[in-house]
Amino acid sequence: MKYILVTGGVISGIGKGVISSSFGTILKNCGIHVTSIKIDPYINIDAGTFSPYEHGEVYVLDDGGEVDLDLGNYERFLDVTLHKSNNITTGKIYESVIQKERRGEFLGKTVQVVPHITDAIQEWVERVASQSVSEDGNTPEVCIIELGGTIGDIDGMAFVEAFRQFQFRVKRENFCCAHVSLVPQPRSTGEHKTKPTQTGVRDLRGFGLSPDLIICRSEKPVGEEIKEKISNFCHVPPEQVLAIHDLPSIYQVPLLMESQGVVPFLIDRLQLNIRLPSPRNFMRKWRDLAYRVEHLRKEVTISLVGKYTKLQDSYASVTKSLQHASIHLGYKLKLKYIDACNLEEETKQSTPVIFYEAWQELCKSDGVIVPGGFGKRGIEGKIEACKWCRLNNKPFLGICLGMQTAVIEFGRNVLNLSNANSTEFDSETENPLVIDMPEHNQGQMGGTMRLGKRTTIFTEGESAIKQLYGNKDSVEERHRHRYEVNPKFVTALEAAGMKFVGHDEKLERMEIIELEGHPYYVATQYHPEYLSRPLKPSPPFLGLILASVGKLESYLSKDTRKASPEIISDNDSGSKRTSKLKTHLLSIPFMDRFPFTML
Ligand code: GLN
Repeated sequence: MKYILVTGGVISGIGKGVISSSFGTILKNCGIHVTSIKIDPYINIDAGTFSPYEHGEVYVLDDGGEVDLDLGNYERFLDVTLHKSNNITTGKIYESVIQKERRGEFLGKTVQVVPHITDAIQEWVERVASQSVSEDGNTPEVCIIELGGTIGDIDGMAFVEAFRQFQFRVKRENFCCAHVSLVPQPRSTGEHKTKPTQTGVRDLRGFGLSPDLIICRSEKPVGEEIKEKISNFCHVPPEQVLAIHDLPSIYQVPLLMESQGVVPFLIDRLQLNIRLPSPRNFMRKWRDLAYRVEHLRKEVTISLVGKYTKLQDSYASVTKSLQHASIHLGYKLKLKYIDACNLEEETKQSTPVIFYEAWQELCKSDGVIVPGGFGKRGIEGKIEACKWCRLNNKPFLGICLGMQTAVIEFGRNVLNLSNANSTEFDSETENPLVIDMPEHNQGQMGGTMRLGKRTTIFTEGESAIKQLYGNKDSVEERHRHRYEVNPKFVTALEAAGMKFVGHDEKLERMEIIELEGHPYYVATQYHPEYLSRPLKPSPPFLGLILASVGKLESYLSKDTRKASPEIISDNDSGSKRTSKLKTHLLSIPFMDRFPFTML
C-alpha cells in the first residue's frame, strides 16, 4: 500500500480537498486502484450533528455514515463507494482507545497520546486503506489521506505525530507528503508572497514531516520565479513545486496538476509499478468534461428554495448534481438560492421588497428544487413554492423534506385537509400527513435517523422517473430522515392525482411521488444527490433539467437514455470539437512544459 498524505498550510478552505481528490483522479486514470481517508481533527464522532450553517452539508454514505462533505468530492472524482471508517475524527480515535482501556486491554499501563492515540491512528489508517471501495472488490493500491485544518493546529497534533512515525513504519517508498499552501498576493504590493508558505513548511519540518510536493494555491497564476523562490527557501526541488491558481471549474484541477509532472514524480517517488501513460489518450474523458464545462452556451435557471442559503456549501451535493445534469445536457447552470422565509406572508408584511424580489426570482426560473432540511423555519415558504410549481406546470424536484412539503401542500390545497402538517413542525395537527418513524427516534441526535442505502421498488405501470432510471424495477439510493409520509393518507392522495410511484420493499415507506398531468413534478424521500457523478448524472436531476429546458418529452419518447451526451447537447461535434479542445488545452499554463502530456 502506498500513501499520499496531504497537509495544509497558512489557512484552510483553499481547496485541499479538491487537490487531494485530483491526486486520486490522476492515479485512477493511470489504472491504479485508489482509496482515500479524510481526517477531521475535531472531537465530534461524525458530522451527523453538525449544523449546515457551520460546516456545510452533511454527506451520507452507503453504509449510513454521516461524514464530512469532502468525502463527497472523493466519491464523485474517483467514482468509488467509501465507508464511514474512511472519515477519521479525534472523537472516533479517542472513543476506540477509551473502549479498549475499559476492556482492560492496556494491561494496567497509563494510556497516553503517544504512543496509544498515535498507534490507534496508524492502525486505523492501515486497516481502512486496504478496504475495497469499488464494486469489483479490488484492493486499493494507493491511499490518499487528507489531514483537515492546517499544520500547527492543536487539534491536529496527534495526527501529525502519528504520520511522523508512520513514514518509518511503512518505509520511504510507500509514503509521501504533499503540502498545500496559500501564496497570497496582497493588493498593496501586487506581488505574490512566499513567506507564509516558508513558515508553514518550516513548522511541518519541525514536526518531522518533509514535504515531497509543495502545492501553491493562489488567486492568479504564480510566475516561475515564485516557484523557484519557494523551492530555494523550502528546500524542495523546483519540479516538486506545483502551482494551482483559481480555475473556472474544479474539473481543470487534475489537468493542471498532471501538466506539472505529478505522474512521473509519483511513479518515481512511490515506485509505482506502472508505465508512463500514453499522452494521447491520458485522462481523455476528464479533458473532454473540463472542455465541455467551459463551452456551454445555453443557460438553464434553477431556483433552490432552502433555508441554509447563506452558506452555499450547505447544498454542495445538490448543486453538484444540478451541474452534472446540466453539463451532460449541454447547458450552463444558473442557480438562484432563494431563502424560503422570503416567500412567506410574514416577509410580505415586514419587508415587502424582499418578498417580491424572492417571488420574482422564483417565477423567472425554468425549474425549482426544494432540497432536504430540518426544523420549522422556512417551511411555509417551501410549501408555497411547491404550490406555485404545481399550479403553474413549473418543473419541480423535491428532496426528502422537499417531498414532505409537496405532500403537505397537496393535502392542504387539493384534499382540503385543514392545518395538514408534519408532526416535526406541529405535533398536534389534526391531519398529520407526515409522521415520525418510531424506530428511528431514539431520543439521541447522532446516528439515529433512517440512514444510508435502501432499495426503492417502482410500482407497476409507467412513470417518467422510472423511465429516467432506465425502466429498472428498483433502485438503491441513500437516505437521511426521521419522518415519512403517513401511509393512512396515501389512498386519498393517489385518488386526487399524487402518485406514489416508488416505495420500500415492505410497501410501508413512500419513496417517490409524481404528479399526474404535470410536465415534471417529482419528489423523493431519498437523497439522489449523493450518487450523482460528473460523468453519470443522477436521473431525478436529469429529469428536472430536461423538463426545465423543454426536452423531457422528446428525451423519453426517443429513448435516448443510453445515447452519449453529445447527441442531446448543443456542443460542437467531431473534429471541430477536437481541435477546439486542443487549443483550449494549450492555453492551460505549464501544459507544454512536460513532454508526457497529450500535446
Ligand atoms: N426533517 C425531515 C425528516 O427528518 C427531512 C430530513 C431531510 O430532508 N434530510 O424526515
